[in-house]
Amino acid sequence: MWLSDLIGLIYPEICCACNQRLTKQEEIICLHCAYSLPKTDFLSIYDNPIAKHLAGRVPFEYATSMYYFTKKGLIQNLMYQLKYNGRYDVGLKLGADFGQALKEIPFWKDIEVILPVPLHPKKLKIRGYNQSDAIAEGMAKAMEIEMVPDVLKRAKFNKSQTKKGKLERWSNVENIFDLKDAALVCGKHVLLIDDVLTTGSTLEACSEVLLKVEGLKLSIATLACAESF
Ligand SMILES: [Zn+2]
Repeated sequence: MWLSDLIGLIYPEICCACNQRLTKQEEIICLHCAYSLPKTDFLSIYDNPIAKHLAGRVPFEYATSMYYFTKKGLIQNLMYQLKYNGRYDVGLKLGADFGQALKEIPFWKDIEVILPVPLHPKKLKIRGYNQSDAIAEGMAKAMEIEMVPDVLKRAKFNKSQTKKGKLERWSNVENIFDLKDAALVCGKHVLLIDDVLTTGSTLEACSEVLLKVEGLKLSIATLACAESF
């Protein structure tokens, strides 16, 4: 018996979505879960509900989401593993599947670089990584394009801002990003990536900063979206 088989007997690999034991052929997500993930079918539809939700708020080329995020659903379990259980590989896998699906749709072939929404430094310190980086990295590899994580940074709040009330700071969301290295995306069609779309205010804030870059075209994709937003 190989050592890996022995380790597998003691610590069996389990599916990150349903906690059932994986077979030798399965990785991260079991076949049953992979088949049952709640896909949106928005990818090939130009005028989909995500595009309609963001329309008029920021100028963009295309916008989409791959899955529905439902309470106690498979995507919620996977996102939990990615965000709170150190499973960066879950993000890579989901991103790879997302990228592969986009690659098969002609209009997504215009995308030149992939850019993840930066995580707040405090959360980055706790989590050790940005979950959107994992998704974007998986997508970039599948789509055979470059990922550019260092274009944006979270703006630092000055003292007067931190003294403000929570609600006031939150309403100030449009000022939370700054450009760090615009040259990486100058004149390019950028795909901005986030994990879950809820209100869209973070994406809107990122987009406003990005669109200041000369000749930049913007598209937006989130791995999942709430069923109603
Ligand atoms: Zn499963």
